[in-house]
This record gives sequence, structure tokens and C-alpha cells, in this order.
Amino acid sequence: MFDAIVVGGGFYGSAIAIYLAQQRRFGRVLLVERERELLVRASYHNQARVHNGYHYPRSFTTAYRSRVNLPRFVRDWPAAVKKDFVKLYAIARRNSKVTSRQFERFCRDIGAFIEPAPGSLARYFDPHFIENVYVVEEHAFDATVLRTWAESELRESGVEVRLATRAVAVVPATEGGLVVTLGAAEGGEYPVRAAHVFNCTYSGLNQLGGRFGTTRTGLKHELTEMALVEVPAPFKELGVTVMDGPFFSLMPFPARALHTLSHVRYTPHLQWEDAVGVDPYQRMHDYGRPTRVDRMVRDVARYLPLVEQARHVDSLFEVKTVLQKNEGDDGRPILFERHAELPNCYSILGGKIDNIYDVLEKLESETLLPSSGTEESST
Ligand SMILES: Cc1cc2nc3c(=O)[nH]c(=O)nc-3n(C[C@H](O)[C@H](O)[C@H](O)COP(=O)(O)OP(=O)(O)OC[C@H]3O[C@@H](n4cnc5c(N)ncnc54)[C@H](O)[C@@H]3O)c2cc1C
Repeated sequence: MFDAIVVGGGFYGSAIAIYLAQQRRFGRVLLVERERELLVRASYHNQARVHNGYHYPRSFTTAYRSRVNLPRFVRDWPAAVKKDFVKLYAIARRNSKVTSRQFERFCRDIGAFIEPAPGSLARYFDPHFIENVYVVEEHAFDATVLRTWAESELRESGVEVRLATRAVAVVPATEGGLVVTLGAAEGGEYPVRAAHVFNCTYSGLNQLGGRFGTTRTGLKHELTEMALVEVPAPFKELGVTVMDGPFFSLMPFPARALHTLSHVRYTPHLQWEDAVGVDPYQRMHDYGRPTRVDRMVRDVARYLPLVEQARHVDSLFEVKTVLQKNEGDDGRPILFERHAELPNCYSILGGKIDNIYDVLEKLESETLLPSSGTEESST
């Protein structure tokens, strides 16, 4: 009998397992992850941006929460945060959902630093396509540092980690609590009982069988490609995002000392609404992964001509899962649901890395008792 089984060893599942062991004094926590390592899926395959609000001119709440959470993230994971680059946001002249004036006002409203880029940086952009360029304050994170942190904290907190292990189903246990059926990579399924289950499987949130059913909040998936490129020398210490519409981002990717190039039009290869039985991981596994880097570079070079000299090294493919309700405003609130019928079964999706604080705040307000029935006070 475990106090908790956390399903999914990404950043969220790992951080929640650590929280349960350290803050809630759960003595027996099991973390199960289908891959052979922790933090190798969305927590690694992403744009590595520690958001500071700029990205969300259509969702004030997400922008505001990013402003609150970024300093905490920098404080708690300083070794994972890369600050030593200049971040530029640019506004396109055509097809932009935001004008320069609106963007400047929005940054003022959320209290985010912004100033016009000096000519030495603005000159990299083609003025026929770009209206204005700004220097802002945004950082990047290194997922491999977060992985090392997670592995060491899990070990020290006594959390049992089972890799290459998949959660298959959840049902209520007749003697109380929940039973999770686990499947080992080498085959064979076996039941494990727990007082709590935390489903932190991101794209796989609704793929658990048994009595799990689905989350109440609808999900949408995109099969994404981010090109990993070696940028020409003047861009080595730069990040660039063009707002807000069918544009692109060029962000440092500290884990590989390269940049990711992503494009709103070409990064999503496939999109579909979440459906039980259509496993997003399987869908990605079956996909041939043809690269679209040529199309990305061709379009980006219209705005930023030097990008033509970028060298394509690799592409990161991943399923990106977002809440259907935020399709219009691009907001990234957390999904935090307590299952209606399964006692003490939670589904959690963070949406972006710094939302971990919103998740931990929610957990703080939950009454979570270890299976012995008493929660020791944390001192
Ligand atoms: C293309 C892309 C770009 C992004 N850019 C950014 C960005 O710049 N900044 C930002 O903050 N966020 C970004 N995000 C979002 C961010 O990556 C996610 O919010 C975050 O990584 C989610 O962490 P997680 O732990 O929930 O998911 P994951 O890291 O995917 O962890 C879920 C884990 O569950 C495992 N799993 C799934 N099903 C099962 C099962 N049945 N049994 C056992 N294990 C299972 C998976 O193998 C996986 O390891 C981006 C995401 C994508 C895909």
C-alpha cells in the first residue's frame, strides 16, 4: 500500500512526488514512468522558455501568473536558468494580432520590462516586414539540470521510482484506496494499491483504463517539430520572438547549446482533439517525422535574413497538449482535477514549466492524508 502513486515522470510528476514526500511527509511514494529516464518527453522537448508574460497578450491571467512565477523559478532552480542572452520581441507589420502600441501598453500593464532595441540589434530585421523590435527580459531553462535535480531529490526523499513502467488502469480498491495496474516494458501487468493517485501524464492524461474515464476539461494535441539549429555568430547570444500570429521563435536551447527554431505555421504537423483510445504517444511513434525546417527557414529569413545561414542539426518532435478552452486566447492555465468517482485521484497538467507554483498552491489546499491516516506536520 503506497501513500501515493504518481504516474508520469516529467517535471510535474517528479516535482509532485518530491512535494508529497518532503512537504506532506508521505512515507511511501511511487513514481512510475513509461520511458527509461525521467524528464525525456515534453519536459525536455520544448522551447525552454521561462515565460515572463510577453508571449500572452491575449491572456492577461496567463501573462500575470508568468510574471509572478518567473522570479520564483529563478530563485528555486538557479542552475537551470540561462540568463546570459538578449531577448528580442518584434512586431510584424502584417498579419499581426497585436500592434506595437498595444504590445507596449500590455507590457506596461503587466509590469514587464520593455525598451526599444538599439540599432545594432534592430538592423538584423527587415523593416519591410517588422514594425518594431524590443529588448525584453526573458530566460531559458536547461531541462537536463532539472532532470539531475529531480533524480537527486527523489532519491534523497526516499521516493521509489519505476522506469520503463506504464500505468494501464485505475479502479477503486474494495478495501479502500485505489488500485493501479502497472505494465512493465518487458511484459506482464500487476496491481499496486495506493491511497492517492496523481495522473501527471500530460498527453496521456485520458489514456488510463479501468474506471478513470476522462478529465472534465477537454484537451487538444499537436504533433510538433522544433528544429534545432546552430545559428550564425551574431545570433549566438540572442533569442527572438515575432508576435503575435503566424510567426516564429528562435530560442536558446541550453540542454544542447543550440537554438530551437519554431514556426506557428510549420511546427504543428498534426492536430487532433483528445479521444479515449487514441494514444498520442502511439500516434507520434507511428509518425514518419518528415522535417519542415526548409519551410521554416525560408519564411523566417524574410524577417531575419541572417537565419538563412543557420545549420539544421536535428529536430525535436513531441506531442504538445493544450486545453481546448484556451484555443482562442492561447492562455496556459493549469488543469487540476479531482476525479468525481475515484477517491483521491487527481489529474494535473501544468501547461508550462513555471506553472508548477500554481499546481503546488492547489495541492497545499487539499487535505491529503498518508494511508496511516495522519499527516505529520512539516517543520
Ligand atoms: C513543443 C513544445 C514547446 C513548449 N514550449 C514551452 C516553453 O517554452 N516553456 C514552457 O514553460 N513550457 C513549454 N511547453 C510546455 C511544457 O513542456 C510542459 O508544460 C511541461 O513539460 C509538462 O510537463 P509534464 O511533466 O506534465 O509532461 P511530460 O514531461 O511529458 O511528462 C509526462 C510523463 O508521463 C509519462 N507517461 C505518459 N503516460 C504514462 C503512463 N500511462 N504510465 C507511465 N508514464 C506515462 C510520459 O512518458 C512523460 O514522461 C512546451 C511543450 C511543447 C510540447
